Amino acid sequence: MSTPTLSAPSLPAPPRRWLWWTMLIALIAVAQTWLVWLTMDFQASRQQQRVDAITAELAAQLRHRLFIDTQRLAALADSTQPSGEWRREAAALLLSQRELLRVERRDASLKVIGAVDNPLHKPLFSVLPRDQLDFATQSACIAARRAGEPQYSQSYFVPLGNGLGEEVMDLCAAQVSDAHLTGYLVGSISLGALLESVESPDLARNHEISFVEGDGTRIVRTGSPHGAGVFVADRVVGVPGHSLQLHVDSAAGRPGVIPNLSTALVLGLSLLLFGVVLVLAHDMRRRSRAERALGESLAFRKAMEDSVLAGLRARDMQGRVTFVNQAFCDMVGYTPGQLLGRGEERYWPEVAAAPGGRPGSQGQEAEFVSNAGRRFPVMIHESPLLDADGRQTGWICTALDLSAQRRIEDVSRLQQERLQATARLATVGEMASLLSHELNQPLSAITSFAAGSINLMNDPQGAAEPPLLLQAMERIAEQSERAGRIIRSVQDFVRRREHERLPIEADLLVEAILPLVRMQARRSSARVEVHVAQPAPRVLCDRTMIEQVLINLARNGIQAMESCVQEPEPLLRIEVFPLGNGLVEFAVVDRGPGVGEELRAQIFTPFFTTREEGMGLGLSLCRTVIEQHGGSLDFDNLLDATGRVTGARFRFTLTAAPRRRAQAASQEGHDA
Ligand code: ADP
Repeated sequence: MSTPTLSAPSLPAPPRRWLWWTMLIALIAVAQTWLVWLTMDFQASRQQQRVDAITAELAAQLRHRLFIDTQRLAALADSTQPSGEWRREAAALLLSQRELLRVERRDASLKVIGAVDNPLHKPLFSVLPRDQLDFATQSACIAARRAGEPQYSQSYFVPLGNGLGEEVMDLCAAQVSDAHLTGYLVGSISLGALLESVESPDLARNHEISFVEGDGTRIVRTGSPHGAGVFVADRVVGVPGHSLQLHVDSAAGRPGVIPNLSTALVLGLSLLLFGVVLVLAHDMRRRSRAERALGESLAFRKAMEDSVLAGLRARDMQGRVTFVNQAFCDMVGYTPGQLLGRGEERYWPEVAAAPGGRPGSQGQEAEFVSNAGRRFPVMIHESPLLDADGRQTGWICTALDLSAQRRIEDVSRLQQERLQATARLATVGEMASLLSHELNQPLSAITSFAAGSINLMNDPQGAAEPPLLLQAMERIAEQSERAGRIIRSVQDFVRRREHERLPIEADLLVEAILPLVRMQARRSSARVEVHVAQPAPRVLCDRTMIEQVLINLARNGIQAMESCVQEPEPLLRIEVFPLGNGLVEFAVVDRGPGVGEELRAQIFTPFFTTREEGMGLGLSLCRTVIEQHGGSLDFDNLLDATGRVTGARFRFTLTAAPRRRAQAASQEGHDA
């Protein structure tokens, strides 16, 4: 079974979506840039920290190395070895401390009295003689003697030929024996070798390590690469008498933007991806919730469609059936497969014949024919089927099988008819006494005329008076006929059973009931007046029923007048006049006590009566009959100038029927 699109409230337009997207993209760009900058900054500071740490470590090692050198030299200075022994010890020292290139012995006047060069190194003063490079050494020795501890000299450059040379720093220790200066011991330390002695190969690969002067001039350097000059650190290595400035320069340059950018991009995109996944997950959850809700509502709808008693059917704009529910299928006796995608000619022959007329939402009665050929009345309500955008995609209609309702209506009509018949019989019963009273008159007249006739015939003279006899016979005939009429009028009334609605002149209706009404009025000594507008209006009605209504109202009026004294005389008026709006009004006016305020609400209730012999059905029947005719029955009290109730007026309306042609023509002539 296909499901038609049902109308849904259209969603509000998304508010400036492009603005949100622009903002999102800008936000991502800013976040990415910031991320790159942060990463680079972080990398740089990490690198700088590393260089700082390396420098501090190197400085500490250098200090330690120089301290060892100082100790060893001081130990050598303290010994008073003979020359040969001293040379051996000095050579051993030079071998263990690679940075020491040469050890000298000097006398108290600073004159070199013996020297040992490092065998692993080219002799220091082979190009320039020692005495030409002696100033710094002597200053250190003087300072050492003064300070009473070994002192370091300023560094100086010792050329070694071929453009090569060695930056050297001397360590001078004074030799004191019994508080007398006996001489000095001088060790020449190569700054280059000193640096190499502390650096590790790992360090040397990535850093340029050097000693610099105060103005930044590099004195010696080690390490394979050249420093990039970005991550640099300086440390002062203080030694007695002198201080060296250690300079470490990392070969690493500034953190590159590109690798960081790609990292950031990857990171950012991953974040974005994560965000998208979160959004998707959220969306999925919402979707599945919506699907569940949809499923539930679909199940609910299905249950509703299947349990609803009215048939539901949807059609597209071309008139093809797109949906039917179970009730509809049951009603017409076709399966959904036999109905879907087709027109409605199968079960609705009228529409197939005349597709123009469509039932609206107000409803329209039609007749369906079921698959089995059963014809049954249906009430159809149809309304447009709108999609989510409010466009009409077809029609949806509900069809209600009226057969059951019709059956109930038939039964109730039958019951009503029976009730009316009963009420009529009751009225007739009531009339029986009236009838006997009424027949009394003609019968006694007949009796007396008959007796007179017999007398005349017995009297030989009288027999000779044929005119008198004839008159008597005529009277007898008249009275018999009158009696017969009286009986017939009752018979007519009781027997009339046809229930056709036919046009009839209002005066004929009134005339038909007049004998009965007058009969009753005579008994109550009331007068009956009839006023029917001329020409008499024609009404469309079930004649018997309306006569019954008129009789009931007239009888009620006469009975009401019996209960009180009327001024100047009891009078019942029956009036008929057209209202001009396609309706004709009938009024029965009496001079009775009127309907009391307390009775107003009840008099139309079945079996409500204030009369001892009453049944209380008259007015309720009258109202039913008039309403079945599409009219209304009402009443009001008549008042005189002082506001006193002078009677009651019961009136009802009936639909006017077109006049007969001859009558209409005569009316036109009359108007002209
Ligand atoms: P019933 O005539 O058998 O009593 P109805 O249904 O005809 O039953 O009337 C119900 C009641 O309405 C009457 O008993 C009476 O009290 C009141 N009624 C009817 N017609 C009139 C009238 N013309 N004037 C005053 N009261 C009336």
